[in-house]
Amino acid sequence: MQTQPAASHFIGGEYVEDTAGTPIDVIYPATGEVIGRVHSATPAIVDRALEAARGAQAAWAAMTGTERGRILRRAADIMRERNHELSVLETYDTGKPYQETSVADATSGADALEYFGGMAATLTGEHIQLGEDWVYTRREPLGVCVGIGAWNYPTQIASWKGAPALACGNTMVFKPSETTPLCALKVAEILHEAGAPAGVYNVVQGLGDVGAALVTDARVDKVSLTGSVPTGRKVYAAAAAEMKHVTMELGGKSPMIVFDDADIENAVSGAILGNFYSSGQVCSNGTRVFVQKGIKEAFLARLSERLGQAVIGDPQDPATSFGPMVSERQMEIVQGYIAKGQDEGARLVCGGNRLQRDGFFLEPTVFADVTDGMTIAREEIFGPVMAVLDFEDEGDVMARANDTEFGLAAGVFTRDLARAHRVAAGFEAGTCYINTYNDAPVEAPFGGVKASGVGRENSKAAIEHYSQVKSVYVRMGDLEAPF
Ligand code: NAD
Repeated sequence: MQTQPAASHFIGGEYVEDTAGTPIDVIYPATGEVIGRVHSATPAIVDRALEAARGAQAAWAAMTGTERGRILRRAADIMRERNHELSVLETYDTGKPYQETSVADATSGADALEYFGGMAATLTGEHIQLGEDWVYTRREPLGVCVGIGAWNYPTQIASWKGAPALACGNTMVFKPSETTPLCALKVAEILHEAGAPAGVYNVVQGLGDVGAALVTDARVDKVSLTGSVPTGRKVYAAAAAEMKHVTMELGGKSPMIVFDDADIENAVSGAILGNFYSSGQVCSNGTRVFVQKGIKEAFLARLSERLGQAVIGDPQDPATSFGPMVSERQMEIVQGYIAKGQDEGARLVCGGNRLQRDGFFLEPTVFADVTDGMTIAREEIFGPVMAVLDFEDEGDVMARANDTEFGLAAGVFTRDLARAHRVAAGFEAGTCYINTYNDAPVEAPFGGVKASGVGRENSKAAIEHYSQVKSVYVRMGDLEAPF
């Protein structure tokens, strides 16, 4: 497969190169080989992208919602038709197994394009009668939106931000993570093939400095970041200085609570999905697994057995169910946390080692007897490391589950219906699960509270973050004034 893109950037409806920008090598995580090279955006490229987006915005907003929506839905169809090649590329970009990328990346991007494409024509204001007078509201776009992505879901993030932004009549400049620069270019290509006018969706490459240049530019009205909490703090502060709108999709250290009445097989499935999917590189992962004391050993025994069935290897092989970390650096960060877990006295139940093969492979790792103060129970690791903690009862575990600066997601496994809903209501988290984990359908709001973020992606809720309401007061009679 051709992994070298036609050029580094996609601006004004075409591929654009500027080799004066710092080179960024694209590394295939399963082998460590260089499979492409792009160049970071120079100031001239950033300027060109923002001019293209600004120039295209008024005409795009002036189209009817039906017309904009038709283009988005056509893009969704193209994305689904090309799912295989897009999934292979996503696997090269991220190292995630094809078994995952073929069902969770371009397909999820297509869902977003289809959903917001369908919604575009329904975005209306309201009429408010005030005696004879009346007010009507107009739902208007924000203008130029900047999207900045993390490296774990490059196609999905580019689509989850682009689809609602475009549906509302905004244009976008998207900067993918420097670690995974390939897939967003395909999203741009497909949108334009589907009929999006030149400049409506642009992609520029680069590291944090390019992101920072975009965030602070006066031509930008809104910034949507998917990334870590430390980056979120910087980007939010920079955007706030110029009163820009923001969506912050940040990190987490989410709790998953398994009560002793839970179906253990389902709870183990939830723990696997919530810790080892995408080699643990998922923001909403339930990495603090609280297991009620009575079932702890049974839970750990079944978990170890099931982890033994993981097929670790070539991520392009559809049989592979567990792939490498995205980069050598991320693998080393995770190895550091594994060492810390051991140093601080957690019990290593399984995994813990790097695999003796090319690429950045770490074994799925489980620690038990983890206590609340340990580093592996407090910090986001963003790798395949599960911390299992014991608990006695509901009151005790709820306080501990919420005792974190993060608030992205949380899950509970129990057969007690009333308890399930009580626990979900008590979680300080934006996205909660009962007897499941990490489902993220486009129809449901997704996002965090506390340090995990601001705003929501997906669902009708996303419209609030990509549009603004103007109210127009209409007087029907004469207007009196005091003098
Ligand atoms: P990161 O914060 O290092 O980088 C995210 C993006 O921000 C990258 O594109 C980077 O180039 C850019 N960036 C860095 N500094 C910047 C600055 N000063 N101004 C503007 N942009 C800047 O995150 P990462 O390591 O790429 O991704 C992993 C993190 O993302 C984890 O914390 C994970 O939880 C989080 N994440 C959150 C969600 C969510 O929806 N909540 C989804 C996926 C990942």
